[in-house]
Amino acid sequence: MHDTLQKPESMPKQAQDTPSPAGENQAQDHVQKPRFAFAKGDGIGPEIMDATLRILDAAGVNWPMEEIRIGEDVYKSGETAGIAAESWEVLRRNGVFLKAPITTPQGGGYKSLNVTIRKTMGLYANVRPVQAFSPFVPTHFPAMDLVVVRENEEDLYAGIEHQQTAEVVQCLKLITRPGCERIVRYAFEYARANGRRKVTCMSKDNIMKLTDGLFHRVFDEIAPEYPDIQAEHRIIDIGAAMLADRPEDFDVVVTANLYGDIVSDITAQVAGSVGLGGSANIGRSFSMFEAIHGSAPDITGKDIANPSGLIHGACMMLDHRGAGAVSATIQNALRRTLEDGIHTADIADGQHTRQQVGTRAFTQAVIDRLGEKPRTLPVLSVREKPAIQVPDWTPKPQAKTLVGMDVFLDWTAKDGTRNPEELGKLLESACGETLKLKMITNRGVKVYPSGLPETFCTDHWRCRFVANASVLAENRNGMDVSRTVGFAELLNLQQRLDAQSLEVIKTENLYEINGQRAYSLGQGE
Ligand code: NAD
Repeated sequence: MHDTLQKPESMPKQAQDTPSPAGENQAQDHVQKPRFAFAKGDGIGPEIMDATLRILDAAGVNWPMEEIRIGEDVYKSGETAGIAAESWEVLRRNGVFLKAPITTPQGGGYKSLNVTIRKTMGLYANVRPVQAFSPFVPTHFPAMDLVVVRENEEDLYAGIEHQQTAEVVQCLKLITRPGCERIVRYAFEYARANGRRKVTCMSKDNIMKLTDGLFHRVFDEIAPEYPDIQAEHRIIDIGAAMLADRPEDFDVVVTANLYGDIVSDITAQVAGSVGLGGSANIGRSFSMFEAIHGSAPDITGKDIANPSGLIHGACMMLDHRGAGAVSATIQNALRRTLEDGIHTADIADGQHTRQQVGTRAFTQAVIDRLGEKPRTLPVLSVREKPAIQVPDWTPKPQAKTLVGMDVFLDWTAKDGTRNPEELGKLLESACGETLKLKMITNRGVKVYPSGLPETFCTDHWRCRFVANASVLAENRNGMDVSRTVGFAELLNLQQRLDAQSLEVIKTENLYEINGQRAYSLGQGE
């Protein structure tokens, strides 16, 4: 469907917007001729999308727009991604997508459409501002005003999972240097563009020294380029606890995908209601805007949903496309509506609610206040925001040396026992001349050599083979090759293991990269 929101004759003065640069690497024609695609989604989606489009219309946003269908019906029609193939082109030509929540059907076979769109369209940054509207929306944290910048494409959301043995499943956590650099830089650039003073990185690098360690290290590398912005790091567990307990202490929080998913919901909830928050998914040439909540099937079709989350998402879209003035006008009207005690059921209370209204009446109340400013809550003013520029990634050559292999086995002795000493002996005899068995771990705990009988062992064993340095040094005339291992030697090792009826379920090469160990040490190494 092609459609155009018409600018009403009596458009509020503040809504007459002068586009200003915002967002990241926007295509020039998008800036000059803004347009957007939208989808009404499922559950309360159509109700809150209608409300949002009415407000955009009333505020004078006359951008061309195109509707696509996504969600439950599309899933059930056989598109397992929840989006029809032809809709991708609509998204691409509009550059911007305003999306209502969708329902993901229960059961196997269906992919999360959100994850599919984020990854397919390269939406690397998920930006979720959270602020309190106290006292009109009750919260323990009246001064709370923070933004969670969540990495949106990597981490455990790569969706690479395997069952490897009868007892063990695994999920790959992929963290990349380009991904870390992009999101950390985006967070600092966002802070600078939006007048924010502090960026807090959250990771668990005390445990995951390579993956989360890379995220933290990149943060430490990039932070000095922004001397005007305070930089700090917190371990995610205490960081999340502090976000729930003292959210006013935070300004911009940057973190990896899974942690960001969790802490952004915590912060939205402690601010007052999940029904209020908007969210931006930013990519290089395409961006998606939505409410943070889901399709709320429990309240669908009752005209009671709070449309504020999607309205805030739409305002982020306007900001992104350089229409900051009209965004401020809508947000000021929304704040004034809340101040006037006109509340949907999710935020109604005995003290500040003068009139509990449904979705449509709330929407009309916001429209009636376009051009008015809040009296108590901060007034949003329009200011020119510098464009957020994040440079493209340029691969850098690295010196990579193969120094060994972790071989993962599915092993239980024929008599049903799992004695690491017995497995150790089998493996020692399979090493050959040039390799040696360094250790065996079970669920990351060293069990050979010198394991403890108390350690519980499952059927999943990680067996580390490295160069037999003394043999190699001798064979290779004392050249400094004592740590290097040939790939053929590792293939031969696997054949010998197979010949002993040992089941190899996976291998991981051990590398040194630029002379640095590039794998985690086993306990006691
Ligand atoms: P939900 O966010 O839909 O609902 C959680 C609770 O919050 C419900 O009690 C609901 O009534 C209430 N709520 C949510 N939005 C509200 C609003 N605007 N106004 C008033 N109350 C509101 O979460 P859920 O129940 O876990 O998920 C329902 C469906 O939504 C699932 O199929 C899920 O997969 C999907 N979902 C979609 C998205 C998305 O499309 N971005 C995000 C999250 C969940």
